[in-house]
Amino acid sequence: MTLWARQQHLIDGGLTPGKGVVLREVTNPATGEPLAEIPIGTAADVDHAMAAATAAGPGWEALGADGRARLVAEAVARAVPHADELARLQCLEMGQPWSVARPLVDAVLAGLPAATEAARSYAWETRLAGDDDWGTDQRRVPRGVGVLISPWNFPLPVAMGGLAGLLAGGNTVVWKPSELSPLSALRLAELLDLPAGVLNVVLGDASTGQALTSHPDNAITVFTGSVEAGRDVNRRCAERFTPTLLELGGKDPVVVDSDVDPALAAQTIAHGALWNSGQVCTSMERVYLSADIAERVVAELVKAASAAVVGDPLDPATQLGPLASHAQREQVHAHVRDAVAKGATLLLGGEIPDGPGFFYPPTVLTGVAEGMLLHDVETFGPVISVTEVESFEEGLRRAATSDYALCATLLTNDPAHARRGREVPAALCWVNAWQGGAPGMVYEPARLSGLGAVGTLDTFTRPTVLHRARA
Ligand code: NAD
Repeated sequence: MTLWARQQHLIDGGLTPGKGVVLREVTNPATGEPLAEIPIGTAADVDHAMAAATAAGPGWEALGADGRARLVAEAVARAVPHADELARLQCLEMGQPWSVARPLVDAVLAGLPAATEAARSYAWETRLAGDDDWGTDQRRVPRGVGVLISPWNFPLPVAMGGLAGLLAGGNTVVWKPSELSPLSALRLAELLDLPAGVLNVVLGDASTGQALTSHPDNAITVFTGSVEAGRDVNRRCAERFTPTLLELGGKDPVVVDSDVDPALAAQTIAHGALWNSGQVCTSMERVYLSADIAERVVAELVKAASAAVVGDPLDPATQLGPLASHAQREQVHAHVRDAVAKGATLLLGGEIPDGPGFFYPPTVLTGVAEGMLLHDVETFGPVISVTEVESFEEGLRRAATSDYALCATLLTNDPAHARRGREVPAALCWVNAWQGGAPGMVYEPARLSGLGAVGTLDTFTRPTVLHRARA
């Protein structure tokens, strides 16, 4: 792929300039300079891609789980030698540090064939009663064409769960990556080079996403993004009862018990709040510190955040790159200013630096409380927002009172307190960890954080029954 060039949609196995005339610049957030230009996919482009995916459906389904696993393994083998290139594209298009992007590309390239391989042992056919001649059989079938719409914060990894599930389920795909970070997605699809029409990429913005979600051939929408866009996606899909998997925003809490080691707690929190510059749906955005240890943890947090290396995303030593866009930086700064205006104390950062790009420094505030944007609404930036609480009990209670319910963390040495993780409304609750789990886990976000089960092929297939009664 040539940067600094006009990109094209990938439809039916070939690149096409599309039928629209509106173009949009893809910007390097580290410099503010243009990287490429993309066409904004129109209704005609969406029709083209949906028709290609529909036509490819029967062939992809007929391959069966074994055939699909073989083709996906071959496809990924074509992409593996280009892992550095894919990571570099993500660094350039969204400012993700190399130290974050590069290992995640390996995870993506391992996860895709793992999903299609695992689908070989899925219960596609189950005999419920009778024998080969007469009886009742349960069968799981592909849903059809899957519309995959992804955000910019992890351009490939976040899309990969949906892409792997859709392909493993025997569906064909029309993928619309974020207009901010479309280059790695387009390149990956090109490299995979799956049979024509099985994986199409339509470039574009919200208008393209709307044309896709409303399309009559859309059999399932897999959407990851903001709550606001998720609402629109869900409304449009409801018109035709199209199933949706919605993975939306979060405002994840971390509740810190008074028995923890302050330095260790601060290390975990700094990682959970600052990784990928805080542009993570599961970022620790609310830190509830027990009063007994608050002062010591805050001192360690300031130390850890001051030591974070901010700089060029392509430099392997960089820990925090720029924010992904000018608008994203404006949002983060507005939340910080709002908190300070309402009485929070700024201990570190909180100022937009001079110079090119959309950088924002690691920032630490205490005295954050309900009624502040920084406490109530997803911020998505490198900000550690501390709220002091009287006890672990109070921390748990305040952690549970949020419009969001994505993930949560408890830091404690008390096994009785660890078990209380069940009380936090979240799809996943980690104790003394941030991220992690075991193969086979299935979870579903609640409240404004989304809808639909993640981690099961059942989401991507449709159960049907053939009941053959004797005449
Ligand atoms: P966004 O909602 O602005 O955009 C996401 C994608 O949807 C983009 O491709 C965009 O073009 C498209 N889009 C926007 N409006 C649309 C509409 N009305 N109809 C159809 N498509 C539309 O989100 P973003 O700013 O790219 O990403 C950040 C958000 O994603 C954050 O809220 C973050 O929490 C969330 N996110 C959630 C998860 C999760 O697993 N829950 C993971 C990553 C990111």
